[in-house]
Amino acid sequence: MSDFVPSYGAPQIVNTSLVFPFAGETFLVGLDAELLPVTALRELGASSEAIVFGTLNGLVCEMRVWPADTAIPSGIVKGDYRQLWGRWTQGQLDALSRSRQLAAWFHQNRFCGVCGQTLKTRLDEPARECPSCGFKAYPRISPVCIGLVLKGTEMLLARSPHFPPGVYSTLAGFLEAGESAENCLRREIREESGIEIQNIRWFGSQAWPYPHSLMIGFIVDYAAGELVAQESEIEDIGWFEMDELPRLPHPSTIAFQMIDFARREIGSSVLNNPLRHESD
Ligand SMILES: [Zn+2]
Repeated sequence: MSDFVPSYGAPQIVNTSLVFPFAGETFLVGLDAELLPVTALRELGASSEAIVFGTLNGLVCEMRVWPADTAIPSGIVKGDYRQLWGRWTQGQLDALSRSRQLAAWFHQNRFCGVCGQTLKTRLDEPARECPSCGFKAYPRISPVCIGLVLKGTEMLLARSPHFPPGVYSTLAGFLEAGESAENCLRREIREESGIEIQNIRWFGSQAWPYPHSLMIGFIVDYAAGELVAQESEIEDIGWFEMDELPRLPHPSTIAFQMIDFARREIGSSVLNNPLRHESD
């Protein structure tokens, strides 16, 4: 359970706010990857946007956004999200996830897509509204279907060229307009691996703010076909015995959680080796 409770509204004048600062879409932290105190942000000057986006352990969470080209003073650095995993609490990470997606929304919706006017942030709902034609731009959420394919005690895992060395994960892809989540999963797995799947079971979902995805996770069974890796996206693909898996993504990812769950559900009597992941 997370201690973060999302909300939305105008900034409040309270001294106990936790401020999440962004330069454009870039999250800013202190030299030890810590959340900066408000006093440290004074050198950045006045922010261009400020919004309350939730509470964490009862403290108001406010995000402030400065222009992307703002000069960053010494003592402040660009946040590395992978560095924060394991160091920040789940509540802090959930707050960051929401503010990160709102920052991307501000950054990518400065002007009206219909008439070109400068958009204004509404304070009663998360919307950027055009004062000229009334068009509203809401935070963009991009659904991604992700599937763990099982064949007996084997799991289908693949490597994309941008993964850290040695790391394999489950197959995933963006939902297309007009497509159901199940059909997206069938299509993505067919395109990336050449195989057909069956018995699609819901696992869960996870907001993934890099920059605005919603991961929709399923566990499925192999149905037919031979593995043929999609050359443009897949560096290596294969069936792995669930007790002899390669290094996996971080335990905070839904991919790791699906693999861990399926191993314990199906293979609890044959497991000898612990899971390894990219931060080990
Ligand atoms: Zn407009």
